[in-house]
Amino acid sequence: MSRSHPGRVVTFVALVAVACATAFLAAPAPARAADDCPWMSHALKPDARARMLLHAMTLTQKLGLLAGVETHTQAFRDAGITFVGLVPGQPTLCIPPLTLNDAGAGVADAQVGTTALPAPIAQAATWDTALQRRLGRTLGWEAWQKGIDVLLAPDVNIARVPENGRNFEAFGEDPFLSAQTGVAEIRGIQQNPVIATVKHFAVNSQETNRYYVSSNVGDRALHEIYLPPFEAAVREGGVGSVMCAYGLVNAVYACQDAKLLTGVLRHEFGFGGFVVSDWNATHSTAPSANAGLDLEMPSGTYFGDELGYAVAGRQVSLATIDRMAGSILTSMFRLGLFDHPPPPAAAVNAADVSTSANRQVALRVAEEGTVLLKNDHGALPLRAAPAETIAVIGAPAGAPDIRPYLSGGGSAYVAATDPVTPLQALTDRASHGKAKVVYADGSDPAAAAALAAGAQVAIVFAYDQEAEGADRPSLALPGNQDALVEAVAAANKNTIVVLQTGGPVLMPWLAQVAAVVEAWYPGQPAGDAIAAVLFGDVNPAGRLPQTFPSSDTSVPAGTPLQWPGADGAQDAAFSEGILVGYRWYDSLHVGPLFPFGFGLSYTRFAYSKLRLRRVGSSVSASFTVANTGSRTGAEVAQLYVDDPAGAHEPPRQLKGYARVRLRRGESARVTITLPPRAFAYWSTRHAWQIAPGVYRILVGGSSRDIALRSYVRLGAATAGR
Ligand code: BGC
Repeated sequence: MSRSHPGRVVTFVALVAVACATAFLAAPAPARAADDCPWMSHALKPDARARMLLHAMTLTQKLGLLAGVETHTQAFRDAGITFVGLVPGQPTLCIPPLTLNDAGAGVADAQVGTTALPAPIAQAATWDTALQRRLGRTLGWEAWQKGIDVLLAPDVNIARVPENGRNFEAFGEDPFLSAQTGVAEIRGIQQNPVIATVKHFAVNSQETNRYYVSSNVGDRALHEIYLPPFEAAVREGGVGSVMCAYGLVNAVYACQDAKLLTGVLRHEFGFGGFVVSDWNATHSTAPSANAGLDLEMPSGTYFGDELGYAVAGRQVSLATIDRMAGSILTSMFRLGLFDHPPPPAAAVNAADVSTSANRQVALRVAEEGTVLLKNDHGALPLRAAPAETIAVIGAPAGAPDIRPYLSGGGSAYVAATDPVTPLQALTDRASHGKAKVVYADGSDPAAAAALAAGAQVAIVFAYDQEAEGADRPSLALPGNQDALVEAVAAANKNTIVVLQTGGPVLMPWLAQVAAVVEAWYPGQPAGDAIAAVLFGDVNPAGRLPQTFPSSDTSVPAGTPLQWPGADGAQDAAFSEGILVGYRWYDSLHVGPLFPFGFGLSYTRFAYSKLRLRRVGSSVSASFTVANTGSRTGAEVAQLYVDDPAGAHEPPRQLKGYARVRLRRGESARVTITLPPRAFAYWSTRHAWQIAPGVYRILVGGSSRDIALRSYVRLGAATAGR
């Protein structure tokens, strides 16, 4: 069939484009008798149902599943529909519409009445997989209530450079922590009839020239650093969909990279769900379909009529179309989309689904993710006393609209509904002790300093505003904020800095302030969470998922060829290989401002009695953590492995952790099991390989605070593919 002879394909696509808004808005797919749609039988397994349905579908119907339709039209706008993606349903086949929406810090894309959750970087900073799973469940529940069945989260891209403007949207610089966090959230999201989407596959480590930069990365770094969170999402999380990235990996567009989409994802990881393109990240028809892309978003530029022509011209086989449609249907059946479709969007677009229980989860995450970075002479917690004055300074604390300081920008942005400002929360909390709070917005450092001079304590709120689409020009706080902190600190020695940033910032004033708290983008509960931590109602236990560098230049991938890359950021050389994050600082003996895994508490912890035991091919490490301070608190016990020289690995790599809550004087025995993979490197033989030799097991409170050491000797072995 020639391109001028598209037959039914074009008819179908054209009809869909005109009719879908009306059809979609009118009603959900009508419930049809099981005789009409035998694949609606719950008795059958998801893949059997998908096969049966596929068998009943025409080519045109299959093609209708493989691309979205534009939702930014007047008809959708008039109906208040704000989904970022939609694949129309096919009522005659009982196929419900597929609605797709962002993302990881709450249900986004201008949806109203949803909870603005703390940013993913704050979620990772909790190191609390049980809480992360609850957060995922909450996120998935709100998505479903808003008529959404594919949530475009989590983002598990590794923070390769601290300047990456989207680091706030993901889980930091370590593959293991990112994997654990991602798996917990995916499981939580998919406890609802909602498909989670792990993104952006793969690498996607910068925003500069994000559509066209080629990340030129070696196979070992790919497997050891960038892919593990995706692998875990598939193998452990059972994720239903994977979003391929903008940009290229080793000169191949990620959405048409057969090695990644088929070789790695399907053959190595065993992925059985579907691959969706990032928005407008598709660059071809046959090469993309044949490489492993299943669903083009937001509309069918390459997979609409063009895919029909490609089938007709035999550039794409019918078997490939079946793989594509089959993958989408299998995930839809497996995750309950056919059996429990969400309420029709028109009925719920104005609904408020942010329940108090959901806000409670957000509050817990904001509290647990807050990291206490410095606390000299017990400056914190605050002890509000009668007649005491607390000077609160800075726009994030009390601006008329604090919402821009609560969430990162871009597709992940969620506007908090009526957030309590830190100023309100601190004023309320201080009033319990009859202390007084005064406020300056910080626009005039001299005025702020004068206010601070008359107070017992000064709290400066500093911020940055990271957003999708641009990298950070510098790691310094933007605007006059360093001058502001310095002026206030000069006026009041009890100056406390609260950071609302998406990642590390430089702190030239660090030695002059008494305490520093990293609150990230805390979302809806910012005020209450920050007040609870500052007043000690909550004992902070967040730990850094990302190293804080001491200068703009002492950072990994610090040459222009590495980031943003040569030729106007066309080519980024990942020449640092596996030396990403703390792996780079440790290998090159560079001192960070605050190391990976770091965070203080209002109590103290001690470690003792590390014992290692072989359990089959795994190693089990047990040790005791004791709370030796004066109040209840949680410690994040971290286990790092130091490989023998023959493995050519950095000095330590996170392979296990446990968040342990202890009353004062209490201790607990912690056991962490290390599977063979914890000791393996990705070898040139394209397999996980264990180098023979002595492996040191390091346990402590951060990557640079190792309290216990032991070792285990292992022989050469392979540890799978
Ligand atoms: C982003 C994705 C997002 C999509 C839909 C893209 O620009 O990179 O993360 O899910 O838009 O909003």
